[in-house]
Amino acid sequence: MSSADSTLACNQKKNDDVESRVRAITDLLERALAQDPESFSVSTAMAVGSYDPQQLDQAKQAVYRKVIVRAWEDGQLTPDEQETARWIAEKLELPEGEYTAIELELAKKQFASALSRAMADGVLDADDQRRLQKISDTIGMPMSTFAGVFFQAEGEKFLRGMFLEAIADNHLMSEEWASLLSSADKLGISHQEFLQAIRFQAREFVEHVIVDAKADGVISPHEEETMVWLLQQLEMPSDFCQYAVGEMARLKSRVEGSPALEVMTISRDLRDRIWRKYNGRCGACGAGNYLEMVRIIPKAMGGGDDEANIQLLCRRCVGQTHA
Ligand SMILES: [Zn+2]
Repeated sequence: MSSADSTLACNQKKNDDVESRVRAITDLLERALAQDPESFSVSTAMAVGSYDPQQLDQAKQAVYRKVIVRAWEDGQLTPDEQETARWIAEKLELPEGEYTAIELELAKKQFASALSRAMADGVLDADDQRRLQKISDTIGMPMSTFAGVFFQAEGEKFLRGMFLEAIADNHLMSEEWASLLSSADKLGISHQEFLQAIRFQAREFVEHVIVDAKADGVISPHEEETMVWLLQQLEMPSDFCQYAVGEMARLKSRVEGSPALEVMTISRDLRDRIWRKYNGRCGACGAGNYLEMVRIIPKAMGGGDDEANIQLLCRRCVGQTHA
């Protein structure tokens, strides 16, 4: 085992330890809460032993998250369930910012699954609308505002899902795009508001597609066509379009001009994991564009295309580390 490996293994162990301690505190709180909810208090439940306050805080959030997840299990969160949940939040002494963040996070999840179920048949009917309305009611936001917030968080996933599907079976995404826009409209978001809501996600989506193309060394004419079409639909600023089109051209010439190029052969699944691990940002400087997946140990020196050997870097940082 190299020293880098043992550092990694050590960090992994530390994470496992923290996780299991948080789980133990979570169990303890849950048991005490179930035994005697009326007289429950965090300080009496935690009277024995000493605990890291940060871990206690994580555990309190975990307890509350489970309460809300259970309440949502039947697809709805009734006012009664909500009242009980808030009462538990109070017992747990969770600050308002923390419990509302958990409620929002889980409402977004519900919204996502209700919306994708609704979109599966291409139409957003009155039933779907009512269901989505109910979900946004639970967090006390008008549906159009909540839908906007939701698309801000999930827009990239939607666009990317559509794009991947479009290039996988070679069909045009114009129909899906039209149905997405009409759904947004039914949720109370206009075309322009929708584009505005997903502006940053759209950039991330384009960047993600380009990084993918660079990572497998291929951009098919159909991929390129779909991408250009989508850039137009998204009404991206012209300098950004120029950048995206330039990157695609650069990639094509690189692939055609140097067939012996050190091409990556990492699977889409692994690329997605790496993208998530780096959160779509350069691992060295945090930049969100001009990104590439780069081997830490070059292939010539035995480096493989596995998760541990691949990092996401921006062009500038690639130049510095591979100078
Ligand atoms: Zn960088």
